[in-house]
Amino acid sequence: MRYFRPATRFRQIFIFTFLGLLLTFGAGCETTTPYSNPYIQPPQPPAYSPQQSTSPSRAATASTKPKVVEGSMTYVGGPKEVIHEVGPLETVWRISRMYGVTADSIYKANGLHSGVCLKEGQRLTIPNARMLRHVVNLYRSSQWRYIIIHHTATWKGNAKAINASHGDRGFWNGLGYHFIIDNGTMGKGDGQIEMSPRWIRQQEGAHCKASGMNDKSIGIALVGNFNIEAPTPNQLQSLTYLLKTLSAYYNIPSTNVLGHREVEGAKTECPGNNVNLLSVRQSLAGTSPRKRTAR
Ligand SMILES: [Zn+2]
Repeated sequence: MRYFRPATRFRQIFIFTFLGLLLTFGAGCETTTPYSNPYIQPPQPPAYSPQQSTSPSRAATASTKPKVVEGSMTYVGGPKEVIHEVGPLETVWRISRMYGVTADSIYKANGLHSGVCLKEGQRLTIPNARMLRHVVNLYRSSQWRYIIIHHTATWKGNAKAINASHGDRGFWNGLGYHFIIDNGTMGKGDGQIEMSPRWIRQQEGAHCKASGMNDKSIGIALVGNFNIEAPTPNQLQSLTYLLKTLSAYYNIPSTNVLGHREVEGAKTECPGNNVNLLSVRQSLAGTSPRKRTAR
């Protein structure tokens, strides 16, 4: 039997290597991202397959599938072909919802096979794009009790660029905010909402140390320097949409929606003197957006 040991050992190495590769390739896809956040509420057994709830860890993974809300933003003058640069952890399904096209049409136009993981920065052709729509994931969690509004203090930016910049500055896990609201620079729409990997993985923020806000608040940053300029009307409209969506889902009162400079202990002018935080809070009254089931 001694002669078989090397073969057995080889088989073990092969199996572990194969499993390792599977995990590596799956890690970039939003739907396969593991969650370890202790604040996420215990899962409810899924009604369609109650047998899955026998293992707590498996059930926890199933419960992290988000609800997705979609909001109309702007029509792109289509249907027409547009080029989309893939942001951090974006999926073909999410991009297809943003532009009002099918995922299959994106796969076909770009010679991709179904279910492929996209690379950040990859450029995709979107045929027959009709609109640019907000697609926001909502995860069951009791962690989020505040929302903090920031500006990037830069003229231009998008989630990919700020992710790289925060990574270079040594921020834990790159992009420190949970959402970015673009200003029409670097290939993104004016008022476009981008989710950061930190939100998709439901990780604490790296945007406001004061009062322990990184642990309990959702960080939203608008691209721009609002000590010099003002947010665009589209950015403000998207901010209101996002604040209404998040505050309704997580039961966050408008008094807990703060500008960075309003947080006790924060020594900053962020999000700039040209953001009227009182009027932002007043804009929160209204209806909540419709929800749809995630895929
Ligand atoms: Zn700030």
